[in-house]
Amino acid sequence: MKVALIENFGEPLKIKEVQVKTGQNEVIVNVKASGICGRDLVVWKGGFKNLKLPLIPGHEIFGEFNGTSVGVFGAITCGKCKYCLSGKENLCESLTFLGEGKFGGYAEKVSVPKENIFPLPDSNYEKYAAAACPLATAIHAAKVAEVKKGESVLVTGAGGGVGIHTIQYFKKIGLKVFSVTSGSKKEIVSKYSDAVITEKEFSKYIKDVDAVFEIVGANTINESLKSLKKEGRLVLIGNVDGKNIELIRPALSIMREHKIVGSAAFTKKEYLEAVDLIHRGDVKPYYRTYPLDDVNRAYQDIIQGKITGRGVLLP
Ligand SMILES: [Zn+2]
Repeated sequence: MKVALIENFGEPLKIKEVQVKTGQNEVIVNVKASGICGRDLVVWKGGFKNLKLPLIPGHEIFGEFNGTSVGVFGAITCGKCKYCLSGKENLCESLTFLGEGKFGGYAEKVSVPKENIFPLPDSNYEKYAAAACPLATAIHAAKVAEVKKGESVLVTGAGGGVGIHTIQYFKKIGLKVFSVTSGSKKEIVSKYSDAVITEKEFSKYIKDVDAVFEIVGANTINESLKSLKKEGRLVLIGNVDGKNIELIRPALSIMREHKIVGSAAFTKKEYLEAVDLIHRGDVKPYYRTYPLDDVNRAYQDIIQGKITGRGVLLP
């Protein structure tokens, strides 16, 4: 089968033919669409501990098993630790992801634990590959932030893969959405926002929001905190550049009693909820497709911010 392989961190992926290997209690899925997550780019740069090369990335996998349409839950969890037992398997003590601890979905076929597959309600694989992971991320982050209908929220990176699906979900659940994005994506982002801001110093224009969803991280977090009201919550979802995050005015967050909290992916239940929202057409998936052979072009387009929404590989 054809696969895209990371042989060296940060270098172009190689397209190769390899033998598909399958383990105990695993099934082989014929991949029809594979989403490119921001997390994959972190893997590609070697940003996580314990990654072993060569590696096939990808945990947003949709395809066929036994002639039926299936999705694959991308996290492999133990099912036994206190987090798994309390329905918080996103915090599993031995959590690993397809495409990290194990070969992932940038391939014609992938072997996955049987319990990770679930039936898809239709066979439009691309739309699920584009929006399921981002939307599940938004569903989880909204819970972490304990947002209530009518509250105002600020979302950074609103035109990216996570952002464009997050703002749609937030509008759907009745939040007032202020989006921060680059100028080129303003038009699409404005469809799902109460206001869009493209300025670097956006806190001049957006003040006293109830919660911030920080998708960009280091480059925007200090402005975000300036826009956040007293006792407001900032949910840290991503840090795209992987740079250290420096709090320029810690006194501000101290005086305003800001709560800064992380949001770690999502549970299987939240992933299925995302799939359902996409199936019902409640959220419009934004994406651009690439043949598997063009994975490096897709990476460059994502890094340069050329795509509104997700990049999706079609093996
Ligand atoms: Zn993902």
